[in-house]
Amino acid sequence: MPEPEVARPGDRDRTERISRRTLLRAGATVPLLLSAAACARDPAGEYATTAIEVRGSAGAPTPSPTPTTFPVQQKAIYTLAEYAARTPGAQPFAAKAIALTLDDGPHAVWTPKMLRLLKQLDIHATFFMIGVQAKGHPDLIKAIHDGGHALGNHTYNHLETLPHLSVPNIRQQIVATQDAVFKACGAYPRVFFRAPGGNWGPPVFAEVAAAGMMPIHWQTDTNDWTRPGTSSIERRVAGAPVGSIVLCHDGGGDRSETIAALTQAVPALKARGYQFVTLA
Ligand SMILES: [Zn+2]
Repeated sequence: MPEPEVARPGDRDRTERISRRTLLRAGATVPLLLSAAACARDPAGEYATTAIEVRGSAGAPTPSPTPTTFPVQQKAIYTLAEYAARTPGAQPFAAKAIALTLDDGPHAVWTPKMLRLLKQLDIHATFFMIGVQAKGHPDLIKAIHDGGHALGNHTYNHLETLPHLSVPNIRQQIVATQDAVFKACGAYPRVFFRAPGGNWGPPVFAEVAAAGMMPIHWQTDTNDWTRPGTSSIERRVAGAPVGSIVLCHDGGGDRSETIAALTQAVPALKARGYQFVTLA
């Protein structure tokens, strides 16, 4: 089941736009060590206490793409139809489109295996990557990008407490990840952001919009990170409705069940006419 959103009714709608340069200036402070509780419901908690190292703005090799102006969302996006309807400039998807999303990488062991599988299956996915992992595995980020997959931002330290951090810290989590991915492959996650554990909230929506991104949740949760068995993951993927955003993982632990399940489920969906798309 999708994890609940953190609702804070009454928070005002923030429409301020912050340029990427401003974001970089705001983030150009001394390295910041965020302490946080380990993730209770997500495999990526191991990354939660790693220091963020953000370069200063001076001399930054940043092309500073002008962020696309997206409205501040009040709710995350669960389906391709919601994405197309709420994202200015988004192209309509095929009638039987489905999107596979892969979280918590890149992982030294499992991301290469996942990339080989996706190539073999002849599909593309959207990778929601953790900044500290991106910094540690720039070669894998490049391989993901060169493979034609879409790049997504899953924060720097994967803190499930994200909505409760200060605004500068939320911003730091987003910007530091953008920078780590850009340093690795020369491209930014341009649009796609996913909160760790699917924990959203008004300050997260505001900062995601300020960074020129959209909040992407999921409709089909495979629970693959709990290692429920290959057949369970396979059933959930194969049972995903048309237009679904499907959540799997390439990072955070042993993903052999995920790999085995996708090996079976993707051809089954393709045989039923599904087209795998990236969020674009
Ligand atoms: Zn995650």
